[in-house]
Amino acid sequence: MDYTHVTCTVQGLSDHTPLKISFLYCPNGKPSFMFCEMWCWDPMFKRILLEYCQMTYHGTQMQHVYTLLTRIKRPLWQLNRDRYLDIHEQQGITRRKLGMIQEQLQEKPLDRELLSRERGRDTYMHILHSSLSLIKQQSKAIWLSQGDQCTQAFMARIKQRKMQAYVYVLKDDSGILKEGFGEVAQIMLRISREPIDREVMMEGTVVDLEQQMQLIAPFTDKDIKDAMFSIHSVKSPGRNSNGGTKDGEYSVHSGYAWCINELEKPKWARLTWGRLNIPRHAFTSWLLMKQRLPVRSRLAKYTGIPALCQTCQMEDESHEHLFYNCIGIIDVWKGARQWLQLTEKQSWQEWVKYVLALRRNKAQKQVICAVFNAVIYYIWGARNQLIFKGTGVSTTHILKMVNEQIIQRVLYKNKGSQNYHTCIDQLLR
Ligand SMILES: [Zn+2]
Repeated sequence: MDYTHVTCTVQGLSDHTPLKISFLYCPNGKPSFMFCEMWCWDPMFKRILLEYCQMTYHGTQMQHVYTLLTRIKRPLWQLNRDRYLDIHEQQGITRRKLGMIQEQLQEKPLDRELLSRERGRDTYMHILHSSLSLIKQQSKAIWLSQGDQCTQAFMARIKQRKMQAYVYVLKDDSGILKEGFGEVAQIMLRISREPIDREVMMEGTVVDLEQQMQLIAPFTDKDIKDAMFSIHSVKSPGRNSNGGTKDGEYSVHSGYAWCINELEKPKWARLTWGRLNIPRHAFTSWLLMKQRLPVRSRLAKYTGIPALCQTCQMEDESHEHLFYNCIGIIDVWKGARQWLQLTEKQSWQEWVKYVLALRRNKAQKQVICAVFNAVIYYIWGARNQLIFKGTGVSTTHILKMVNEQIIQRVLYKNKGSQNYHTCIDQLLR
């Protein structure tokens, strides 16, 4: 039962309170018309549609559509009843028939009659298609209605709220208790049609003339000052609070950043998230900068695998070693440095610091960042290929890949913006 109504009757001589429980019929809406996609492939569908479209309609365009949709329901229901009611059964029968014909054909492959009957498999395909479409639509409906536990709980809550909103008992004007949805509806309808009683309105609190004048009066400076100072300090980062920029001035951006607790960006972010960087390269580089790549020295902490670098077999594979100090990749950086005319640095930290502090124009800096990220990406790729496939990648190959990818990227980006044409000559040398 959807709805249960309990009435506590007045306590009598005994200390029991009798409860009157009634299970009521709930006025649920009419079942809605469900459109099945499989009808679209039926030759009858088009005919029905054409027939009903050619009829004459009155009123506005919207009424036109509304009438058409209402009229078309019945023939579509009829179509469904005639041809699709037992679609799954039909599919089974046709499949068995087709199977039998095909079996017979194997024995007599040249039988003309059997051949022509076998060509009738289009019918089977049509039925199968319709049947699958119906299953798809049904499972979608089920998924929507009871997809997961959250949706189920949500739907149950909606239903509960709906039930709570039902009014079953109401007192009418003369104070008589009226029971039943029909009765309540009638009272509501009658009340809604009556004009609002002014006397009833005047019974509550009313704004007097002076208050009315106050409401339409313009704001004074004092009002504005009061409003400004009534804002909580958390919401108004000012000159001396933490919401200002470095020089103490307040700006909307700094205030917002402070409100959302935005942390200061690390310096290397410029290097990793440059405009020219290829996203997949940037991602690997970002993990490296955060020291989060699964290098062997990290894995060795949690698993039993040896931390030794597989490329040089000499030192532990840490982030710094693998990407900068390892003898196997030293030449990759060397090649990249020659290409971009950069100087060598002793350690990874110094190298990053040096690249960040370079004094070049914007486009050149972007190209350098992109190459930096590409090299990281291909070193990581080479390391993985060596470990998982057992084949090494030569320095020449890595440099060739970096070169090709960056040049293509620069040319592609330059096509629209023309920002990089100063660098292109240098890159193509
Ligand atoms: Zn190594």
